[in-house]
Amino acid sequence: MRGAVVAIDGPAGAGKSTAARRLAHRLGYVLIDTGALYRAVALVAKERGIDWDDAEALGQLARTIELRFSPAPSEGGRPPLLVDGADRSDAIRAPDISEGASRVSAHPPVRAALLGVQRAMGAQGGCVLEGRDIGTVVFPDADVKVFLTASLDARADRRFEELVDAGAEVDRDSVMVEMARRDARDAGRDTAPLRPAADAVPLDTTALDLDGVVERLVEIVREAGFSAR
Ligand code: C5P
Repeated sequence: MRGAVVAIDGPAGAGKSTAARRLAHRLGYVLIDTGALYRAVALVAKERGIDWDDAEALGQLARTIELRFSPAPSEGGRPPLLVDGADRSDAIRAPDISEGASRVSAHPPVRAALLGVQRAMGAQGGCVLEGRDIGTVVFPDADVKVFLTASLDARADRRFEELVDAGAEVDRDSVMVEMARRDARDAGRDTAPLRPAADAVPLDTTALDLDGVVERLVEIVREAGFSAR
């Protein structure tokens, strides 16, 4: 039986990346972190002096860099992102690159370039894609669609802890303000805005721990008729 295409969308800090990673591991599926692709465009643009508002130059950049995930190094780890063959997994996580990714991702030429990349990555099925528009635009026929949410407070707490764990010196209130601004931009843009697909299963993670979220996701996949490989 062909593996499912599982689409997990939702705002920043809703718990998508860790939960998607754990789900992919449980199912024996490939994880595709689509935000990493937008982050790579923002990172390379910054390094090459391309303005995050220059839609045409960014589109050209997104069409020409080679983006590829290599297999996760440890079970359930985050698959490293290779940009033109070089591992840029750490550099794309810098806070200014989160902001840059949100800026560059609003431009239609960038989205068009990355659409093909994402569809090619997921074409074989047996994959969990996490992002903002997977269930609405990238794979509107995905076998399983989940929209993860959590209160802004809970999401800011989680992102703050992640950044502190990664050694960043940040202030929790600024994390929350930056996150709210990024969500507003992601939800308010004209092309592929952040919104739940009509047929997505909503999952509010505010009161759930990670294990609870993963169990519920596994259950949703099973209910759709798919099981672990
Ligand atoms: O998920 P992550 O925080 O890494 O995504 C970074 C940014 O990339 C998001 O704020 C959003 O603007 C953009 N993005 C997107 N569509 C996706 C995934 C991410 O627009 N499918």
